[in-house]
Amino acid sequence: MSSYTGSTALKFFLFPYITGKKWEARTVNRVLHNKAYTGITYFGRTTGKDHKKTNEDTWHVLTDVTPAIISQELFEQAQSALAKLRGLHSGKAKHEYPLTGFVVCEKCGSSLIGSCLRGNYRYYHCRGTYLTASRAKICDAHYIRADWLEEVVWDKVKSVLSQPELLLAEVGKQVENEKAHYSTGTMDKEIK
Ligand SMILES: [Zn+2]
Repeated sequence: MSSYTGSTALKFFLFPYITGKKWEARTVNRVLHNKAYTGITYFGRTTGKDHKKTNEDTWHVLTDVTPAIISQELFEQAQSALAKLRGLHSGKAKHEYPLTGFVVCEKCGSSLIGSCLRGNYRYYHCRGTYLTASRAKICDAHYIRADWLEEVVWDKVKSVLSQPELLLAEVGKQVENEKAHYSTGTMDKEIK
């Protein structure tokens, strides 16, 4: 026996809503992956009492069975966002450094760049610690564990976002700074 995954998914979708239980990552994940929300229902996705998954090319597409709650486009955006997230947690992701270009060294002001040590651990470290063709090594800052730094920055970002007045104050400061910067004739110099 096959089952309509559209309707079971809908029950599943409503479940935490009805019961008032917490949304679990697994539930959200199933919702995000279920095409039923785009109005496409598959017949025969599972088989038997134990709902064993069947091969995708044996599924039948039923249109107009479930109402489209989200657009196909949004569904695809969700899929690519999920794929990206999966990437972040896979082996490949160890080499991603989202803070590159956003953080500078406290000691010398050079930008921090990411690197992987012993093939496994992600770190950020100061560009100034490198000898380059045009200058000597200018900094002795230590390596910073990427997981730690990203968590610290993320916590800060979250706290700023949860207090819009902080954000507004920062934007205000920036605007003032720029005004001061340009009123001292710096703009003329820059244009020259
Ligand atoms: Zn430095």
